[in-house]
Formats: sequence, structure tokens, C-alpha cells
Amino acid sequence: MFTHHCTACERRQLMFVRQITDVAPVTDGLEVSFTCWCGAEQTGVLADLTAGSTNAVRRDLVAA
Ligand SMILES: [Zn+2]
Repeated sequence: MFTHHCTACERRQLMFVRQITDVAPVTDGLEVSFTCWCGAEQTGVLADLTAGSTNAVRRDLVAA
């Protein structure tokens, strides 16, 4: 699970794995595409929390 601020409904939502439609590796984690509870398609970078990264700038998805 992770949280995301949706740009369509302007809410911070809790997302589940079953809402993920695509995952692609990027330099600072994984770019995740998913469908918000409101139906909007969203993307964000889920940082690799196991790597101990201190780069919080692109960590726009937060593992819950
Ligand atoms: Zn939404």
C-alpha cells in the first residue's frame, strides 16, 4: 500500500496493489501508474525504501 495526492480529486488517497496498472524502473525507484478511487489515471515515483535513499525530492508516493 502507498499514499498519493491525486491531482484530479485533490485528496490524499491510500492506494492498494490491485490499483496499479504499470510499473517501470527509474533511477530513484519505481514509476508506478495506477487508478485513483475517483477513476483518474495517476503516476508517481515510489522510492526504493530498502536502499536507504536520502533523496526525498521525488518520493511523491509514500509506502503505508
Ligand atoms: Zn482521485
